[in-house]
Parts: sequence; C-alpha cells; structure tokens
Amino acid sequence: MKAFEKNIRKVEPYVPGEQPQNKVIKLNTNENPYPPSPGVRKALKELDTDRFRLYPDPSCASLTEALAKFYHVNPDQVFVGVGSDDVLSMCFLTFFNSEKPVFFPDLTYSFYKVWAELYRIPYECQKLDADFRMVKEDYYKENGGVIFPNPNAPTAIYEELDVVEDIIRANQDVIVIVDEAYIDFAGRSALELIDRYDNLIVVQTFSKARSMAGMRIGYAISNPALIKYLNDAKYSFNSYTMNQAALACGVESVKDKAYFEEGIRKIIKTREWAKEELLRLGFRYLDSSANFIFATHPAYDAKELFEALKKNGIYVRYWGSERIEQYLRITIGTREEMEALFAFLKGYMENRV
Ligand code: PMP
Repeated sequence: MKAFEKNIRKVEPYVPGEQPQNKVIKLNTNENPYPPSPGVRKALKELDTDRFRLYPDPSCASLTEALAKFYHVNPDQVFVGVGSDDVLSMCFLTFFNSEKPVFFPDLTYSFYKVWAELYRIPYECQKLDADFRMVKEDYYKENGGVIFPNPNAPTAIYEELDVVEDIIRANQDVIVIVDEAYIDFAGRSALELIDRYDNLIVVQTFSKARSMAGMRIGYAISNPALIKYLNDAKYSFNSYTMNQAALACGVESVKDKAYFEEGIRKIIKTREWAKEELLRLGFRYLDSSANFIFATHPAYDAKELFEALKKNGIYVRYWGSERIEQYLRITIGTREEMEALFAFLKGYMENRV
C-alpha cells in the first residue's frame, strides 16, 4: 500500500439508478414522463450565449425571488442548489456538526448515509415499523439532528403534518430537515411550519413534479438565519453552483403554475389507476403518495421480475437489501408506458403458471 493511501478520504459512494442511453421504458429513477413547461423551452432558446463568458449570478437572485413569490416567503428564506442532492449535502455539512448522532429512518434515501460518512458525521438509523411507517417517538431521544423524506423513499409513504410537527417540536435544540422531494404528489407541506419553528429546513426539488431532473435544481426554504449559514457554507465551497441556463429555466418553470398543477394531476391519476392494475395482477404495495409505487408480489420473486422486465426494455428499481428484498420500486410513467408494463407482467405471469 502506498503511504498516501492512508490519508485519502475513502467513501462508499451512492449508487444512482441506471441511465440507459438507448430507448427503454424508464420507470427506475422517479423522473417525470412529461416535458417541463413550454416556457422552459423558450427560455433556453432565448438564452444569450454571449453571456456565457461571464460567471453566473452567485446569489441566484432571479430564481430565489421567483421561488419566494411562489411560496409566499422572503427571498432571504430561499437557498438554491444543483438539485436537492447538492442542497441536502450542503445542509449536512452546515448543520450536522455534533458529536451526537444524526437520526434518519433505516429505510430511506440511501444518500443520507453516504453524506454522513463523507463528512464523518455520526448517525443512527431509526427502524421503520412493520408497516414501514416512521415511529415518531424514536426521534425524541437526544441526537445531533434529524432528517427524513416526506413522502419517504423508497416506500412512498406520506406522514401527516401533525407527525412531522411532533418530531420538529421534540427536537428544537437541533436542526430538523424535511426532504420533500415528492411532496407535490402528496399532502400538506412542512413549509406551513417554518414561521413557527426556527430549527426547521424544508428541501424540495425541480426533478420530480417540475420535470427538470436533467437541469439539476433544488432548494431549501427556512428562516433567514439558517439560510445565511447555508450560503456561508456554499460560498466557502463553490460560489457559482447554478449555471445561467439552470437559473433561466428554473424561473420560467416556477412562473407557470397551471402547467405545474396539471402535470401533478396527470401523474396522480395514472398512479391511482396503476394501483388498481397492480392489485388485479396480485401485487401488494405500500400506499403511495409519491410519483412511484413500492410493490411486491407474494408469488413472484422480485429480483426475477426485475431482471425479466429489464430484458424486455422496462427499467424499474430493485435493491435486494434487507427488509425490501421482495420489493420493486416502479416510477409512474405515462399511461401508455404503464400499460406496456402491465401487459408485460400479465404475459410473464401467464407463461409462468
Ligand atoms: N431526496 C429524495 C428522497 C430523493 O428520492 C431524491 C431523488 N433521487 C433526491 C432527494 C434528490 O433529487 P434531486 O437531486 O434530483 O433534486
């Protein structure tokens, strides 16, 4: 072993879902099957490429102002980053700096563990119950911070706002981050609580309901004091996280509320129909409030199903890890894509019996 090896910061990285470059039915990374709002296309076309020689606005004022207006907060309550992954990573770096462990669920977004390890933050996973629900009392113990997604991933389960509030209230000496990547498909957001709790940060993304995973835009909303701490960390890391195209497209997306709401309505409609189809095929699933469904079949092995689907150009997500070995996570695609999925499953099952 080379001497320098011992000083290298080694991490076991997060493994993103596959991004096949050929044409497949892609239901594996919770992307939106519909394009972003027409204004986004226009903004990109009209972008002044001569300006690319200049650095972008480090304060991202146009986008923070658009988001502030949309959510009825002040611009100094908004922080934007390169997808919510960037925002969450910055939050870990900034707010989780205690010797006590940060708490998050045992089954959740697997990036949390990776950031904790990358930044050497102690953490302790709290076990979801047998129905994959959060046990709020587990978060009442002393800790160095709390983070959880609502709805959770990969379960798609939404916890009601009173549960979220109980966890925030019980943890007023630490920062609580509610990762709302999928909230637009679910219920009430914890944004309602930011004026009441100065320890709360809500993180959302343009990757799901706004159909802009490829543009990489995420944001945190909180009180001005915590947003300032986040900005201080950002400016100590990379001042220019958001490029000019992302800023311009993000602003246009936020402006078109009607398109945003209509897109959500379409996904929810397909999701509710997909739940019925899954039941018809004998699947069981956790009740989804997101743009994906976490499903299992009592008679068919999840890994075999996953592989058969993939061989036929239908990509879903499978982990095979403890407690969820028999589950597949299926992103809600267009009605046509979901029809193709169910047609394949039906044929597969008929041939297997
Ligand atoms: N949080 C959760 C719970 C997620 O599932 C994802 C998507 N992989 C993210 C955050 C990050 O999304 P993005 O960086 O695209 O905003």
